[in-house]
Amino acid sequence: MIHLFRHRELYIELRPRCPKCQKEFMLDLKKFLPGRAHSCHACGTVVQFDGQLAGKVQNIIHDMEATIQEVYESFSSEKAG
Ligand SMILES: [Zn+2]
Repeated sequence: MIHLFRHRELYIELRPRCPKCQKEFMLDLKKFLPGRAHSCHACGTVVQFDGQLAGKVQNIIHDMEATIQEVYESFSSEKAG
């Protein structure tokens, strides 16, 4: 599920499963940060996020938001010209 908020922030929701009880949880990809973890509401299992992967994800989101901003700007300059 992907949303773009009005303030041009990307929101990507994933549904990974708990490795222990297999219960799905909602993961806002922007909160997939290095050094963070998710604790399962159902069984309490704590899953540490992969730091390297989390760093990569954050870079991509940042780039994507910057690119989306450029798309908006390309329309506004078209309008002016
Ligand atoms: Zn669980």
